[in-house]
Amino acid sequence: MYTVGEEEIEALARVIRSKALFRYGVGHECDRFEERYAAHLGVKHFALSASGSNALVAALVALGIGPGDEVLIPAHTYMATGTAVLAAGAIPVIVDVDDTITIDPQAIEAAIGPQTRAVIPVHMWGAACNMDAIMDIAKRRNLLVIEDSCQGVGGGYEGRKFGSIGHIGAFSFNFYKNMTAGEGGGVAVNDDRLAKRVRGAIDPCHFYWHGRDGEDKPFAGNGARASELMGAMLNVQLDRIDGMVAKMRAEKMRILAGTAAFGNLGLKPTRMNSADHDCATHVMFTMPNAEAAQKFITVFPSVIAGKTGRHTYTEWDQILIREGAAHPAMNPYLMPANAKCRMDYSKDMCARSLEILNRTVMVPTNPEHSDAQIDDMIHNIGVASRVALAGMSPEEAELRNVIPVDARKFDALGRPDAA
Ligand SMILES: *Cc1c(COP(=O)(O)O)cnc(C)c1O
Repeated sequence: MYTVGEEEIEALARVIRSKALFRYGVGHECDRFEERYAAHLGVKHFALSASGSNALVAALVALGIGPGDEVLIPAHTYMATGTAVLAAGAIPVIVDVDDTITIDPQAIEAAIGPQTRAVIPVHMWGAACNMDAIMDIAKRRNLLVIEDSCQGVGGGYEGRKFGSIGHIGAFSFNFYKNMTAGEGGGVAVNDDRLAKRVRGAIDPCHFYWHGRDGEDKPFAGNGARASELMGAMLNVQLDRIDGMVAKMRAEKMRILAGTAAFGNLGLKPTRMNSADHDCATHVMFTMPNAEAAQKFITVFPSVIAGKTGRHTYTEWDQILIREGAAHPAMNPYLMPANAKCRMDYSKDMCARSLEILNRTVMVPTNPEHSDAQIDDMIHNIGVASRVALAGMSPEEAELRNVIPVDARKFDALGRPDAA
């Protein structure tokens, strides 16, 4: 969550006063948001759901992915990317990220086996995966591409919005995401038939609200319908998103220009797949080693990508222990249909990813930062760099002269705590 104000309060109050809190046949906020967000993304359909996790499941289920299928996921993502694959009855296969800390196209190609049906590139921290390479592999090797764009609201890859490039895209609007209604999510898709299946996966009764057309057999989906409160709040957030992202991009450019002036200190911005189109929610730096990253964050309050506590495969407990469902008969790891899928996980299986993630440092931006605050941040990054990269003590590195700008606590996503 970045900016929330009176406009959201008014929109919510309006819906509450109208008593039209149900989306179908009662209110219009969800319909309006779905149309507007589809246009924003440049896709034909957008379907709201209760969460990003559910949106991923709906996307996978709509594509017909299930038992017998492997889905490639990156070693660095929120665990819902993997648990969504399990909820569809398929098996997640974990592959390495590269120095961009997004899924490595070469690792995708190397991991494709006879059971592999799909890949989920995740635009982590608002930064793009290498979509040209991924779509090229997908075409040659016949893979479906589900873009996990939960952290990529407002951003894109080389001029196209995240979630509009693969076969289907999933979004989250939870509290930590770039646009929020507290919780929420949705699916972006062009294909009409897939869109219907997505709506069926989100709401088992959807054919009652939309009309039975007899084209496609209904299947038992989950209950994850959006409320008009979500739609109303997101309509206001959508008015803000381009402005918020523009401010964060300007902040990122100012920080990169400011820190480039440190010259021979050797502070290295992380390589980006689409540097001008990301959400710029973070400015990332790749340190020479994990020790330097650790030193950096003790001086400058920021986050090491590999140390958030929930975004690296070593922390996905259910997957590592193969508890793929509440009931053993529904556990994809125990299903005969999945017998040929690869499911041997270990904590060191993606050692290359861990090595990269543990030396990638993320400095969070915020559209509310003033230029003076950003300049203080640049100064502080300089101090942290002298400590981390030049072996200075904090005193030598002029820590005393520094006014801590953002001494507030940071949450696990690297954003300043709301409190
Ligand atoms: C937040 C997130 C999700 C899940 O979204 P929820 O709305 O929290 O269910 C999935 N994937 C990624 C990469 C996320 O960051």
